[in-house]
Amino acid sequence: MTDRAQPPPATFESLGLSDVMLAALNLAGYQYPTPVQAGLIPRALTGIDVVGQARTGTGKTASFVIPILERMQLKHDIHHPQALVMVPTRELAVQVRDEAIKLSAGRKVHCVAVYGGKPIREQIEKLRKGAQIVIGTPGRVLDHLARGTIDFTKLKVVVLDEADRMLDIGFRPDIERILKRCPQERQTLLLSATVPPPIAKLAERYMHNPETLNFSPKDVAVETIEQFYFTVDPQKKFELLVRLISREKPKQAIIFCRTKRGTEKIFQRLSKKVKDAKIVAGIHGDMNQGARDRVMAAFRAEKIRFLVATDVIGRGIDVTTISHIINYDIPAFCDDYVHRVGRTGRMGREGVAFTFVAPDEGYELTRIEERINRLLKRGEMKDFDPSASPDIARVPAAADGSPGGEAAAAPPPPPSSMLRRPPKRYKRAL
Ligand code: ADP
Ligand code: MG
Repeated sequence: MTDRAQPPPATFESLGLSDVMLAALNLAGYQYPTPVQAGLIPRALTGIDVVGQARTGTGKTASFVIPILERMQLKHDIHHPQALVMVPTRELAVQVRDEAIKLSAGRKVHCVAVYGGKPIREQIEKLRKGAQIVIGTPGRVLDHLARGTIDFTKLKVVVLDEADRMLDIGFRPDIERILKRCPQERQTLLLSATVPPPIAKLAERYMHNPETLNFSPKDVAVETIEQFYFTVDPQKKFELLVRLISREKPKQAIIFCRTKRGTEKIFQRLSKKVKDAKIVAGIHGDMNQGARDRVMAAFRAEKIRFLVATDVIGRGIDVTTISHIINYDIPAFCDDYVHRVGRTGRMGREGVAFTFVAPDEGYELTRIEERINRLLKRGEMKDFDPSASPDIARVPAAADGSPGGEAAAAPPPPPSSMLRRPPKRYKRAL
């Protein structure tokens, strides 16, 4: 099994593509294959199953659409779907369909997107007329299967695009039902930004000896980034943040919050705390694009040292100088943790991540630990009381060594991860 991406060949020609494909790529304005495409296309062309791990925006769509088109039989009367692409959202269904249409220039291929929220009749009509490539959300695909309006008997390729996202939003049972109704003799391609154990299991169950290609150095880096957690009452988080910053002196840090309002609030408060307010900025979806671009440009130029951000914005950030990630709020989804923490430790640099966990969020911490398959270390902050009760002032331990205020302010209970056994180690990591 290959674990690393091969260095990309320089051109699409060297991937052994047909003239009609090369012409379509030319028309699309794609001059060179992206590393994901250079790695995936030649392998997928041989018909083997492939798991491709790469972050968004790396050209994954064309990496499966090209082999689908190249392996398609467009002779005589084949009207039934030959390729099925499952995607998590309607928007993505439309986007992938459009890419497939673009890249099928010069061929008589029909691509149909099937997704919920649209009258099923239109889709049935399109399928009836003949569609070689079907792109759909699992729910709607299953709907068509149940109605008998889709025929998968001629299916040659099945693609699971954004597999991690699909599982996150609960499509697993639907996906499994669909896969069970696809021909055994098929090729399966799985694309995902992360390959956590549930994806690995899915691949193990429904794919034939898949080759894994990993194009996500940041995800690998997560294993080398030092990761700590602090159990802290929500009311004491800001104080902990300030203490952490003054202790750690980050070169550049992103402070992740769960909500736009929270992001704005922490940004305001932090601006007042630091000497030079210009080194602090906030970024979230309520800001207009111009303002967001300005913040990002200043962050890249290292004029901003502390960036308070929501996950949506945080995902796209690709700055190599980030030394610290501070999860002011524990992320709502495990994948967001991987994405957040992957912002640091890039290009082999050292990175450290701190996650603030409220006493009742131990379960969420455990889920993260299970997802990344390792335990976070417990963070230490000298003379800091993480509990909220203002009336129980923590008496510092007496200099003579007698027990000081230890009993007066018991620290909050440790998160459940400390009470449980370490997360189960999965035998088969893809
Ligand atoms: P991913 O699925 O990895 O997030 P996409 O397939 O959506 O990425 O591609 C991201 C963008 O890059 C799209 O706008 C796509 O048209 C463009 N793109 C893909 N491959 C190439 C290429 N080889 N050259 C130039 N642009 C490309
Ligand atoms: Mg994609």
